[in-house]
Amino acid sequence: MEIVPIAFDSMGVRSMATFVKTKDVTITIDPSVSLAPSRYGLPPHKIEIEQMEEKWREIKGFVEKSDVIIITHYHYDHHNPEEVEIFEGKKLLLKHPKDKINRSQIERAEYFLERLRNVKVEIDFCDGKKYEFGNTFVEISKPVFHGANQKLGFVLEVFVSDGKNSFLFSSDVEGPLHADQTEFILQRRPEIVFIDGPMSYMLGYRFSKTSLEKAVENLKKISEVSREIVLDHHLLRDINWRDQISELFVHAEQFSTEIKSAAEFRGVEENLLEARRKELYERFKF
Ligand SMILES: [Zn+2]
Ligand SMILES: [Zn+2]
Repeated sequence: MEIVPIAFDSMGVRSMATFVKTKDVTITIDPSVSLAPSRYGLPPHKIEIEQMEEKWREIKGFVEKSDVIIITHYHYDHHNPEEVEIFEGKKLLLKHPKDKINRSQIERAEYFLERLRNVKVEIDFCDGKKYEFGNTFVEISKPVFHGANQKLGFVLEVFVSDGKNSFLFSSDVEGPLHADQTEFILQRRPEIVFIDGPMSYMLGYRFSKTSLEKAVENLKKISEVSREIVLDHHLLRDINWRDQISELFVHAEQFSTEIKSAAEFRGVEENLLEARRKELYERFKF
């Protein structure tokens, strides 16, 4: 199984776009990319915009060679309704547009589906479903909270197994914080897992110390069953992310489980552009 983290926060953009290839099927999960509209009171820097354009081109290249596209929820860093023609001829497994979803995502899902009407695609709403492609098994979780509660809606987790290797994609669980978000992972014991880590950059105002502790506890449990944990997305908006979860590194080491960012997993240098936005404006004036 080949797993490629295409675009992630550790690569300078808001995204979790991932490509998975087995002997039987090629899949792209959440092909989209965005930037924080405001960080430190600043809009995206030119360097971030260029990186976003570069990453979107790269995502489209992977979509082109994919048979299946999975979309775990309707936030713009996970789906892009503006270039739906890239999905022509593909099978789309989409989060249900009406069940277990919040108001703003109902509207976005409706718009996305409307745009897709002009493209020849096969659509299936995949919440809680299982699929087989040759010897490759794909299982989608029931909807779980987008983070701490249902205010931001629900997301789907994705498990892929080809009989030899296994992989799990958590989508925006922001931790994980809850038992059901964590159980889906623990029960499947994926060798490699990509997780949206806790949003420690909001610590003290939109994210509590208790939530951070809860996330670390859940991640510790996952480190006991998985071989490699890739932590990224919300967590990688914090330049000190490794210090924030230092306890996890200690725990995971006892189980010889590796903890890394998506950039590290892919073998490229970490490039936390959003977390460094203030510095970008100081160093590169445009
Ligand atoms: Zn989201
Ligand atoms: Zn997201």
